[in-house]
Parts: sequence; structure tokens; C-alpha cells
Amino acid sequence: MSIQERYNEILERKNAAAIRSGRKPEDVILMAVTKTHPASQLNEVIDAGATDIGENKVQEVLEKYDDVKPVRWHLIGHLQTNKVKSIVDKVVMIHSVDSLHLAKEINKRSAAIGKTMDVLIEINSAMEATKSGIAADEFKNLVEEIVSECPNVRICGLMCIPPMAATPEDNRPYFRQAREMFEEMKTWDLAEEQFAPTVLSMGMSGDFEVAIEEGATIVRVGSSIFGPRNYR
Ligand SMILES: *Cc1c(COP(=O)(O)O)cnc(C)c1O
Repeated sequence: MSIQERYNEILERKNAAAIRSGRKPEDVILMAVTKTHPASQLNEVIDAGATDIGENKVQEVLEKYDDVKPVRWHLIGHLQTNKVKSIVDKVVMIHSVDSLHLAKEINKRSAAIGKTMDVLIEINSAMEATKSGIAADEFKNLVEEIVSECPNVRICGLMCIPPMAATPEDNRPYFRQAREMFEEMKTWDLAEEQFAPTVLSMGMSGDFEVAIEEGATIVRVGSSIFGPRNYR
């Protein structure tokens, strides 16, 4: 199957899951995760209709950026502060903010180019030591600190990456917890210019339908569209 055919198949499954969960298809975005894949394949998926592309390394965005048709780029992987400067003018959203230190650097570099950067807070719901993301009980504190110290950052919601699971159903409790945090967040009374919680980024190739049923508004799908990755 071509990238176009696989993209269309995933798109249909995404739309069906949205309808099943009482939402409109357009309320859930299918992001194509393109890490390790060449610019030509990004253009293929854009031609197939993809509007949003996710990369997890700054270096890959920089390598491909000039060869890819206009699209909304998202940074979804761990971000080092020394790489923030080279990315703030290229991405529409950073999904992986998990410290005030990182948010401050994003704030500084965004202010320098007159931009307010949309970000998500990455939560580590399973408290896995090997993963980035902040613990649930530090979440509100971090959000409040970022809102008070980073005027050029707008917090738009949450990203959740559950542990590796044997079946998609295993992740339902993590998605549900993220959804609950997201709903709670919406009740917080913080400055609107910097706090607009509308995005819940969760679900990958193996479990995106469960994530949508639990409230995801962006699903991040790579291998089901592009096939297996060859890491260099
Ligand atoms: C690679 C990656 C994905 C996509 O994973 P697939 O299983 O290939 O769909 C989603 N989110 C993040 C943060 C990733 O790094």
C-alpha cells in the first residue's frame, strides 16, 4: 500500500472513532509522525491531505524543513534548551514542555522573534523513571509558574505518552487520567492570552482509537502510515 492509501485508511479510522465518542471528525486532528523518514515522504503525506506533521528531534526538522511543502510542524520529542533557538520560528506547537527551565528558554527565544509559542505540558502518568514528563502532583504548580513567568508562551493543553502496552486497552486508564487532568485544567482561572487549554495530544499507531474514545484532540501516528522505522 502507498503512503496515501495508508493515510486514508487511518484517517477513516480516526473519523469513525471521533464519531463513536460523540464528536465531529474535524475535532480530532490526525498528525503524521515523520521521524526517520525523508522529506519526499513528508510531501507524499501532505499531498494525501495531512495538515500537521510531528517530529521528535530538532535536527530532523532543520534537515527537512526547506524541502517540505507548507504544513504545520509540531515538535513532539524531548527538547534540549540549547536547541530551542533554532526551532521557535519553524514549529506551531511544542508538545513536550516539562520544566520551568525549558519554558523560560522557549519564552525568551519566542519573544526575540515577536511570537507567542503554543505549548503542551507533557505528563508522565505512569511515573516511569526512564521517561520525561512531569508528575501529576507537580502539574498545577508548573502551569502557574509558566503563566506568571513566560508571557510569550501559551499553554494549550497536555501531552500524554503511556508506557509500552501489550494491548491498546491497557492504556485506557492512562488516557482517562490525562483527560481528567485536562478537564480540571479547564476550570483554572488563568490569563487567557497565556492559557487556552483546548488540546489533548495522546494516542499513537497502536492505541489511537482508544485515545480518541477517551478524549484525544490530536493523535500522533507514525508507523501505521509510513511503515516501520529504520533508526540510523
Ligand atoms: C514516534 C512517536 C509517535 C508515533 O509512534 P508510532 O507508534 O509510530 O505511531 C508518537 N508520539 C511520539 C512522542 C513519538 O516519538
